[in-house]
Amino acid sequence: MRERPPKPPPARSATARSAILEALLATREANAAATARELGAAASISEKDVAAHLEHLARSLPHEALKLAVTPASCLACEYTFQDRGRYTTPGACPKCRSERVAPPSFRVTDGPRAAKRERPRDEE
Ligand SMILES: [Zn+2]
Repeated sequence: MRERPPKPPPARSATARSAILEALLATREANAAATARELGAAASISEKDVAAHLEHLARSLPHEALKLAVTPASCLACEYTFQDRGRYTTPGACPKCRSERVAPPSFRVTDGPRAAKRERPRDEE
């Protein structure tokens, strides 16, 4: 239980975000990962709008002892990995070989760092 009182968020974006989270949790069950396009389809929003929700989820999931794991985009032509990209959108072209055949990043939910400690309440404050 949180002490924070529930505040009503904008209904539309909250719905899209929970749909994305549901889709992510479903892919977790399937031991798979989802792309922004798949998540956008699940939430009935554009692929572009998914990125903002993912950024928010990346910050909020640790509170649920979960973590947003990102498999970075990669170039299909030369296998370059967009490791340091730090964004949730698909790059337009490969900086190394200029190919536009870029596999999008994929996302899944994993147990966060707090998951292991969850069972153990602290004795001292
Ligand atoms: Zn390349």
